[in-house]
Amino acid sequence: MSESKKRSTRLLRTGRNHSGWVNAPVSRASTYVFDTVEAWRDTRKRRDTERLPSYGARGTDSTYALEDAIVELEAGHRGFLFPTGQAAIAVTLLAFLKPGDHILLSDASYEPVRNFCKHQLADLGISHTFYPPDGSGIEALIQPNTKILYVECPGTITYDMLDLPLVSAIAKRHNLWVIADNTWGSGWLYQPLSLGADISITAVTKYIGGHSDLMMGASVANERAWPALQKATYGFGQTVGADDAFMALRGVRSMPIRLQAHGESALRVAQWLQARPEIAHVFCPALPDDPGHALWKKHCLGMNGLISFELKTQYSQRQAEGVIDALELFGLGASWGGFESLVIPTDLAGTRVLTDWRQRGAVVRIHIGLEDTDDLIADLKQALETLS
Ligand SMILES: *Cc1c(COP(=O)(O)O)cnc(C)c1O
Repeated sequence: MSESKKRSTRLLRTGRNHSGWVNAPVSRASTYVFDTVEAWRDTRKRRDTERLPSYGARGTDSTYALEDAIVELEAGHRGFLFPTGQAAIAVTLLAFLKPGDHILLSDASYEPVRNFCKHQLADLGISHTFYPPDGSGIEALIQPNTKILYVECPGTITYDMLDLPLVSAIAKRHNLWVIADNTWGSGWLYQPLSLGADISITAVTKYIGGHSDLMMGASVANERAWPALQKATYGFGQTVGADDAFMALRGVRSMPIRLQAHGESALRVAQWLQARPEIAHVFCPALPDDPGHALWKKHCLGMNGLISFELKTQYSQRQAEGVIDALELFGLGASWGGFESLVIPTDLAGTRVLTDWRQRGAVVRIHIGLEDTDDLIADLKQALETLS
């Protein structure tokens, strides 16, 4: 669709295929049959560079439609879908790494990615180093065998911002691939490819799905990174089912308006939390006094529903857990990005390596859903009052 149209308009038009139906039909498929051996051979010759039906694992009309929408979101070249966000990350990293290589990742990276580096990559003889979540001092950490600068911005739980154009320029000078986890922004609030990254990965499970009813990941590449990503995706046999692709595309259509509601409500809750006597710090880049606020304003198009808060050190981890248990409207569970509010305890002292969190208060991560903000604030208030 023409570049002159606004992003939200383009997002509603993309991935609609060519039939008259507003929604692309669900194509559940494995086998595609050909009329002649010549047609079969011709397709096999061309299918790496052209999008041709050949086999279910290579894509169907349902996965193409969703890929198109996510590529539109990320302003990328081409993209692939994976059964989970974690699978998208793992396969994408393996597409660019071989034994002896080294990867740099943020100390605010999503914990399962840290574990993937610590276990699966280490077993393959691939080493890693953590860099500070604000991106400071990255250049000094680059080794001759460093291949990837892995970015997660804003960071997990603490929502640290880094200057992506700046660190991407450093990475390019050293011939590194810049790979970003863009689940926070989900392509709508943040666009790593436009800021210098080669690949942007999203857990579709979160805001794109948007309803806590599916698992999926997407990896979108620029033209340079696409061939290696494509090869790895086929080699590792990654694809998604047509029904999930249909559901995720349904989520894409309403994501901008959902994110706006999540973001407005979360900012109100963050401001309310900041004024509470029990709380030492609120992590939220949309707050004017957040250390990442200037970069957030410059690079992000809005806020999502994620906030973390740190209780004052006079309260124990057990007391923080009491606050979580006292919440009624916040479900205690993994993930986020659905319509409902969620909460989890965190363990920054046990995960982060560059900052000593042991002297800090207990940190609680919340996801602000689409419930009425006043109700959520009232719930947080009664839960925090259990501390006194
Ligand atoms: C949830 C999440 C993932 C992984 O997504 P799954 O679909 O749960 O595997 C990756 N990165 C971030 C930042 C996430 O929050």
